[in-house]
Amino acid sequence: MTDEMILRWLKEDDPEKLKTLYREAYQTKLNNVGNSVYFRGIVEFSNICAKNCNYCGIRAGNVNVHRYQLTREEMVECAIWADREQYGSIVLQSGERYTDDYVDFVDEVIREIKRKTDGRLGMTLSLGEQSDETYRRWFESGAHRYLIRIETSSPELYSQIHPNDERHRYENRLRAIRSLRDIGYQAGTGVMIGLPGQTDEHLLNDIRFFEEMNIDMIGMGPYIRHADTPMSSIPEDDELRKRRFEKALKMIALTRLTLPDINIAATTALQALHPWGRERGLRAGANVIMPNITPRKYRADYQLYADKPCIDEDTDACLTCLEKRIQGVGDVIGYGKWGDSPHYHKRMEK
Ligand code: SAH
Ligand code: SF4
Repeated sequence: MTDEMILRWLKEDDPEKLKTLYREAYQTKLNNVGNSVYFRGIVEFSNICAKNCNYCGIRAGNVNVHRYQLTREEMVECAIWADREQYGSIVLQSGERYTDDYVDFVDEVIREIKRKTDGRLGMTLSLGEQSDETYRRWFESGAHRYLIRIETSSPELYSQIHPNDERHRYENRLRAIRSLRDIGYQAGTGVMIGLPGQTDEHLLNDIRFFEEMNIDMIGMGPYIRHADTPMSSIPEDDELRKRRFEKALKMIALTRLTLPDINIAATTALQALHPWGRERGLRAGANVIMPNITPRKYRADYQLYADKPCIDEDTDACLTCLEKRIQGVGDVIGYGKWGDSPHYHKRMEK
């Protein structure tokens, strides 16, 4: 797709025309990655965070959050449940922390999960920026994918949505993505869509960024305001949120059309803006869903953004609900599979 075509679609708001875009992206998905939707059960194991991203509800500066940390046993239990339910793989996500205790803890959990599931369960980490040594250590212990969003590929916009200090530098985020790739992880990145100050040109550059970084997987979703954050003072209304949702769908479709053989997640944030958000994401070309498998009692304390769905549901109830929703789209669940993107395998063969 040329830059002009991508920009034209980003600016398009005729619903009939957009339907043709989503249809084409869905067809491209079928032709390149098939109609299997892969599950990545996400364990949001701690909301303790050393950073202060201006948009995030669990930023260190938010004193209204009750902080928690799952025990090793609880995390292993989640993993065993996911393995039994044929989820194929899980994601371990938390706030960003760098202490030796934290790094050791994650390392032990990775190894124990690998052991207890006989190496069957795929494991993605989403634990932010860490040293190369830490990335390498976790990789050697059994994690093989890592999700770290660039948030926006524009260094200027990045600096507007983060505090201006050493802990929040665009260059460090970029370095992290490169290191992860070099170490051997399947690297995933992504952006928030509809950030205040973000233009269609920024979004076009985001897609070009995914391309240049030769990325294997994408997790992107709409930005959603959280009341206890500095960015909550920026006004918005329902109309703006509606447009933001549509823009996120367009980004999924345009990314699928530009990078046909990668994995793209239909993120939970889509569902926070629309009751059928994730299904619409699948129809626009996404092929991965990250069901929340965090024990219910912790879910309300992990709110990166407002109106997060499914915080009152049990994991078993979530599974039944999701099966029905995915059947409705016409896709099937790729039970028990890691579901690596064809792009990753092609990259490895080179
Ligand atoms: N601490 C790790 C992982 C948890 S945050 C990290 O930052 O990488 C995971 C993602 O949540 C972030 O990358 C960000 O894109 C997203 N996020 C945070 N606040 C958000 C908000 N208000 N709206 C939408 N997405 C948000
Ligand atoms: Fe912490 Fe991640 Fe939220 Fe930033 S986005 S404050 S690093 S949890």
